[in-house]
Amino acid sequence: MSSEPATTPERGDFIRDIVAADLREGRHKTIVTRFPPEPNGYLHIGHAKSICLNFGIAREFGGRCHLRFDDTNPTKEEQEYIDSIQADVHWLGFDWGEHLYHASDYFEQLYEWAVHLIKTGKAYVDELSADEVREHRGTLTEPGRNSPWRNRPVEESLDLFERMKAGEFANGAKALRAKIDMASPNINLRDPVLYRILHAAHPRTGDAWCIYPTYDFAHGQSDAIEGITHSICTLEFEVHRPLYEWFIDNLPVPSHPRQIEFARLNVTYTVLSKRVLLRLVNEGHVRGWDDPRMPTISGLRRRGFPAEGIRDFAALIGVAKADSTVEVEMLEHCVRDVLNRKALRRFAVLDPLKVVVENYPEGRVEEMEAPNNPEDPAAGTRKVPFSRELWIEREDFMEEPPPKFFRLAPGREVRLRGAYFVTCTDVVKDAAGRITELRCTYDPATRGGDSPDGRKPKATLHWLSAAHAMPAEVRLYDHLFTRPDPGAEGDLFADLNPESEKVLTGCQLEPSLAEVPVGETVQFERLGYFCPDPDSKPGAPVFNRTLTLKDTWAKLRAQGRHGG
Ligand code: ATP
Ligand code: MG
Repeated sequence: MSSEPATTPERGDFIRDIVAADLREGRHKTIVTRFPPEPNGYLHIGHAKSICLNFGIAREFGGRCHLRFDDTNPTKEEQEYIDSIQADVHWLGFDWGEHLYHASDYFEQLYEWAVHLIKTGKAYVDELSADEVREHRGTLTEPGRNSPWRNRPVEESLDLFERMKAGEFANGAKALRAKIDMASPNINLRDPVLYRILHAAHPRTGDAWCIYPTYDFAHGQSDAIEGITHSICTLEFEVHRPLYEWFIDNLPVPSHPRQIEFARLNVTYTVLSKRVLLRLVNEGHVRGWDDPRMPTISGLRRRGFPAEGIRDFAALIGVAKADSTVEVEMLEHCVRDVLNRKALRRFAVLDPLKVVVENYPEGRVEEMEAPNNPEDPAAGTRKVPFSRELWIEREDFMEEPPPKFFRLAPGREVRLRGAYFVTCTDVVKDAAGRITELRCTYDPATRGGDSPDGRKPKATLHWLSAAHAMPAEVRLYDHLFTRPDPGAEGDLFADLNPESEKVLTGCQLEPSLAEVPVGETVQFERLGYFCPDPDSKPGAPVFNRTLTLKDTWAKLRAQGRHGG
């Protein structure tokens, strides 16, 4: 990486324009951003947008990006979440280096600053109950009313605040509030709460504290302590910005970060809210936070989405100031684009139908050469065993084919990819009339999949040697919700897609698929992209369908349904 900070970003957007101007005009020498998750759940694709933005800007402008856990609410935060967040950011391809921080690292400093506000007459200990506070707050159209405790002497507030810290009072009995303006048109400035009493152990500070700062009080000050230059957050914090600035202006903070808001990501057919995702997990609607249907980063990873596809998606959607919903097909398009270039091609048969090649010698096995990726000759070739008994896809045969069905049928010849032409000579059925086997003949002159006489079958099928294939479970995934806007009309959970997961057993895989590690996605020819699931056991592989091959985003765009 060049040590010269860039002043022209790789891409343009209003945030990069601000950052570039701040560098150009000398307001900052180095850009410092941060990604500040609350460790109360796993990260989702919306967080990925924020990660790509914050780490991306730092990288492009030669600055740095901090990972800061916003751990101010000990009742909802867990180590499992902290670990998963770090793993997910790394997996996405970003690194905070030594700049890993916690809001809880600053509890002592934040406490001192709270005392500073009391001493300067800008904060007071309030004794209204939570309900009374709400009642005094007013509405968007009506001003609030002052708390009777608002003008109590500084000494009294100092004493009570110290005793709050010492644990003398019950949860909710008192709170520290900023003294700003109960008549402000911005409700966030109507004496916001800075500290609340919470007798709860904290994963990092243990029992040291029984008062905890609110998000508003902790966030901007943490930014200032770390020397963050651009504190990039989502639009719902725009109305908090005057408060963010009020703290910075009224405290002896070491630096003055600037808050910039952008629109949060929404994606069709899913929900990006940790609260809802937690319910999906806890109520058993999914296999866990990393269920392949979840919009979590760990879910997308288990589904087989490559990090590069997610980064490309973040770049493609860009950042804007207006809320919008992005079609999930766009994410899928980015993922397919990467997989089409990189995924190895393999054979798999999901619904196997036996084919016996009658004129092929019993016991003979030929190694057929097949390209690993026609899009990338450098990926080389592999050997696929061919023998007398094969599996093909049941749906690739029809006893009475309709006019546009060109695949296998009685008396018809098709190409088995990379192997031979075969012609169906007979259909074997069980007592119930279900087809159990096809009898075929092959043409030895068509080895490799081409005929010297130039005949060209209208269909090419994938196949497996029955003796060599490996049985597997394959899980087919579809959208988690049936509606593009889950919950828009009534109960969100009523919109869950009952067919979002279909488990197929008795599928057959090419032997080389045993070597694909978890984390790699391959293409099953003609079927889609698939990846091994961590549930796989030796001899009992489980594969997840990442995506089908069909790219529907291009179609949506052509129909003008997509603006971007
Ligand atoms: P959720 O609403 O899902 O619970 P959150 O905003 O409470 O998410 P945080 O852990 O506070 O989650 O988020 C960390 C960072 O990620 C914040 O800066 C937040 O603005 C950003 N972020 C969260 N959700 C999205 C989203 N959908 N799109 C873009 N950025 C997001
Ligand atoms: Mg939050």
